[in-house]
Amino acid sequence: MKTILLRFGELFLKGENRHLFENALLNNIRKKLSGEKFKLYRTQGRIMISDFENEDEIVERLTTVFGLHSLSLAEEVEASPESICNYFKTINLNAKTFKVEVNRADKRFPVKSMDFAATLGGILLDNNPELEVDLYSPQQKIMVDIRANGKAYVYGKTIACQGGLPLGTSGKALLLLSGGIDSPVAGYLMAKRGLKLEALHFHSYPYTSPEAKQKVVDLAKKLAIYNDEVKLHCISFTRVQEAIHQHCAPEFMITIMRRIMMRIAEQICKREGLGAIVTGESLGQVASQTMQSMTVTENVIKTTPVFRPCIAMDKEEIVAVAKKIDTFEISILPYEDCCTVFLPKNPVIKPKISQAEKEEKSLDLDALIGEALASEEVICVTAARE
Ligand code: ATP
Ligand code: MG
Repeated sequence: MKTILLRFGELFLKGENRHLFENALLNNIRKKLSGEKFKLYRTQGRIMISDFENEDEIVERLTTVFGLHSLSLAEEVEASPESICNYFKTINLNAKTFKVEVNRADKRFPVKSMDFAATLGGILLDNNPELEVDLYSPQQKIMVDIRANGKAYVYGKTIACQGGLPLGTSGKALLLLSGGIDSPVAGYLMAKRGLKLEALHFHSYPYTSPEAKQKVVDLAKKLAIYNDEVKLHCISFTRVQEAIHQHCAPEFMITIMRRIMMRIAEQICKREGLGAIVTGESLGQVASQTMQSMTVTENVIKTTPVFRPCIAMDKEEIVAVAKKIDTFEISILPYEDCCTVFLPKNPVIKPKISQAEKEEKSLDLDALIGEALASEEVICVTAARE
């Protein structure tokens, strides 16, 4: 019978809480495979899936579940020498060289691992005369895992999964999602550490086009492959930008914008019960991402940490992740997001908190923030694999 063996990643480190993580992982797998026919069960530190039909679809979905380290498609046979030998008689290998490895988790199995591997190799050689054994760098390894549950699992390939921690086990957070390359990557990286994300996008309609907003929805659809659905909060930033443009020094435009974004983000976090803000900032990438700029931006929020998983990454590294999660092609579409509207020529690189506070004196912050929050539109975005 065909069976998928699933291996967990870091869950082993979790000591007392381990069962919570395992249960979350099992629930996340069930949710991910909903609509498919399958049986999911745990045995001896492994998760197994059997009685499934759409093998390719199921494997593909499993490779997007955080907390899984790898999986193998195996044949389950009775753990007796005869049954395993009989199964080996049916194997046709698509390789020139091979090696059989036997792991006897059940020491009651009557033949020693090395001896049994030699026997099984002999069967393959008999049936495939052009094959050769290569113990050091075989093209194809065949693993035989003899378990204490009376079953043996034979498999040839291990597929890497995402690693990380099961989604939701680290809590919930709010991703500031622009239409750029970095923020979807930041979202993926934090979701991988077990944070279930909602997203917040600021648009400047009518200065920005409806396509710019659609682009963010499309990015959220990609993120939802890893994050289940994404609750996307869309907020109009137009009035805020117009007011800053009118009343503040141009070089402080971005600094003040970002301080107001953070204040709004924190309010949404409090309202929605989200424990952190996530951004795609990378140290030194642009003027608003210097240490001083981030200090001045972060200063306006009091009780919410800001996670910046891309902080130490080069653009090239961020792009590599964006390609892996399939957001890159969407991110490079040419529609402007709100930050490119009203952009000053020379933004301050090392702003001071006192300067920003002075600039903000000429704004009615509460009214602007209230107005922005009143414009909120919430979209529930589900996964799109296309
Ligand atoms: P990205 O590629 O993610 O857009 P960036 O390099 O263009 O990042 P900035 O425009 O300075 O950098 O934005 C830094 C971070 O601020 C973004 O990664 C994102 O988390 C947040 N941000 C920027 N613009 C918006 C927006 N319009 N809506 C929501 N969040 C935004
Ligand atoms: Mg941007």
